[in-house]
Amino acid sequence: MAVGVLALQGSFNEHLAALRRIGVKGVEIRKAEQLENVSSLIIPGGESTTMAKLAELHNLFPALREFVKMGKPVWGTCAGLIFLADKATGQKTGGQELVGGLDCTVHRNFFGSQIQSFEAELPVPELAATEGGPPSFRAVFIRAPAILEVGPGVEVLASVSVPSNKNVDFNPALQEGSAESDTSKVIVAVKQGNILATAFHPELTIDSRWHSYFMKMSPSNNEITAASSSSSSSY
Ligand code: GLN
Repeated sequence: MAVGVLALQGSFNEHLAALRRIGVKGVEIRKAEQLENVSSLIIPGGESTTMAKLAELHNLFPALREFVKMGKPVWGTCAGLIFLADKATGQKTGGQELVGGLDCTVHRNFFGSQIQSFEAELPVPELAATEGGPPSFRAVFIRAPAILEVGPGVEVLASVSVPSNKNVDFNPALQEGSAESDTSKVIVAVKQGNILATAFHPELTIDSRWHSYFMKMSPSNNEITAASSSSSSSY
């Protein structure tokens, strides 16, 4: 079975291209019934309010929630992470509908506005252990969320130091930071059972290890061709 990529808005084409690079067939998902033909799903980055409005318009929320509940692998990147969080806070989080399932609180636009977007070299021991390659991953953060709290069943895969050019005016959570509450590092990648979530955009880099890692969460997704699996993923 192919991997579904929610294709309402955002960087779905880039995810499809990243899947192709590792020899995996991805299909665009725009309707609830299309979810029946895929064994796992990627929810891309973009703009979560817009994506939520479109998902509502197409009556996708019940099917997406069902998909998550069934234990099928789901990976949310950036806006996709917001979609999967049980709770979202932060600016402009005006009652937008969420799919939920991931036991965490996410803060939208945590690092500031578009011009505070940044790249960071993230140590990700789990990724290096399972996929090989360098111990860190070059992560692209675009108006990214951060994970402020996680439940007991959530495994933290990566955290990032809040960059010094952080926009504290924009983000009251950072202003509130005191000596006791360490806001200098925040969680940006987690795994909880069948759910993977990253605040950054692995589909925008040529390092395919997150996509390969996600594929391993679903044995039935092993459609990586012999040719591509014999040469290790590019990074
Ligand atoms: N800031 C966006 C939102 O809240 C997410 C940004 C992204 O997906 N790159 O939806």
